[in-house]
Amino acid sequence: MLDPKDWEQFRALAHRALDDAIDYQRDVRDRPVWQPVPDEIQASLAQRMPLDPTPLGDVYDRFVREILPFSSGNISPRFFGWVQGTGTPTGALAELLAATMNPNVGGRNHVAIYVERAVIAWFRDLFGFPHDASGVLTVGTSAANLIAVVCARMRALGPNAREIGLQGSKKRLVGYASSSTHGCVRKAFEIAGLGAHALHILPVDARHRVDPEALSAAIARDRAAGLEPFLVVGNAGTVDVGAIDPLDALADIAQREHLWFHIDGAFGAPGVLAPTLRPMLKGLERADSLAFDFHKWIHVPYDAGCVIIRDGELHRAAFASDGPYITRMERGLASATPWFTDYGIDLSRGFRALKIWFTIQEHGAKRIGQAIETNVRQAAMLGDLIDRHERFELLAPVATNVVCFRYRKPGMNEAQLDTLNDALVIAVQESGRAVVSSTTVNSHRAIRVCIVNQRTTDDDVRETLAALDELASLS
Ligand SMILES: *Cc1c(COP(=O)(O)O)cnc(C)c1O
Repeated sequence: MLDPKDWEQFRALAHRALDDAIDYQRDVRDRPVWQPVPDEIQASLAQRMPLDPTPLGDVYDRFVREILPFSSGNISPRFFGWVQGTGTPTGALAELLAATMNPNVGGRNHVAIYVERAVIAWFRDLFGFPHDASGVLTVGTSAANLIAVVCARMRALGPNAREIGLQGSKKRLVGYASSSTHGCVRKAFEIAGLGAHALHILPVDARHRVDPEALSAAIARDRAAGLEPFLVVGNAGTVDVGAIDPLDALADIAQREHLWFHIDGAFGAPGVLAPTLRPMLKGLERADSLAFDFHKWIHVPYDAGCVIIRDGELHRAAFASDGPYITRMERGLASATPWFTDYGIDLSRGFRALKIWFTIQEHGAKRIGQAIETNVRQAAMLGDLIDRHERFELLAPVATNVVCFRYRKPGMNEAQLDTLNDALVIAVQESGRAVVSSTTVNSHRAIRVCIVNQRTTDDDVRETLAALDELASLS
């Protein structure tokens, strides 16, 4: 009913689309990094739902005109905003193939399940987790962190946690994370019913790393006040400045105090593949749970995150569900337990694992590590350029791959500098020459360059700084 009437006509269009897609990636340097969606295209896209058919060729032409040119730019070598991966051409191809097979990877006995198990096992081993640890692919680290918080909550409340919920428990659970922790951890506390007040925020040192002494003190204080500490969240790469918490020290405290130790390693955890970062990540292998993304520093196209849980049985107990419509069988398609739906929020799930499987096989883990290492070196180089520059200044030491800095003009007060630097971020984005983002570091507005980009050359980094300098001198 919905298949092509004329397969040859479809084939011709599909080949054209594939060629366009390949050119689009190959020629990424020839386009502005970003450009706004023009008003008339926004209006065109907001038209009512079509009730009648349109020839596919017309739909495709409209895609080429109205959609393709106006993406966010993160596949560009000069994209340094937020923490966004670039993807790869092979990853895009794998997405086409995954959608072609279109399996539902919630469970059952088919090959996509085995592919997902395989890629999770690769990373479980890479991160030094035991064989009976569990894992599941997620939309991203936000969902992965939530799953970990729910598992930690279950450990704290006991096996009937799912029946009684927080309302059936007298325990007043509290968790800990540093002030540099990503906002999705707080959101996980909210969604898990713990409430944001149950997440106690710990101070950081000059390098934006959590202070382990402060954690020990907070646990003692909270216990004395009748609260029940249950979880500590460490960062392997903070979102603002790329700091890595002292993970080993956090693991020691968690062990001594019987807390669940979770690590948000959204972009930083794959740093174990890079010689410079690996020693800084010591202690990662001791966590009870680890969340990380494939769509950031592993360059798999959006979206793909993952959570690994040391206690696989507890993980399953926290999420497994049944129903007559999902009865498991000994053999046939409804076999191959456990199912991925028993480890997460979703029942229906796409074949995310295929793009990971392709990417890691094509490049090998080593080359992924080299790309990470290159970005760390480029961030250090940019840090040096800024240090030596008379008008730019660093606002935080460069720990990994994130550089936070600002432009200074003599005679400007703090408020004026904040305004100037926010304006510079916008100006460089609108120039189409590069994308950087902004944040606040030690109460100063900062220009933030985060390099998770397998396409970036050293020249891209230098020219981005030059563009900012040029725009600043015009302002
Ligand atoms: C990006 C990021 C997140 C959120 O991950 P998503 O994949 O965007 O959901 C969480 N923590 C850190 C440190 C991040 O960089």
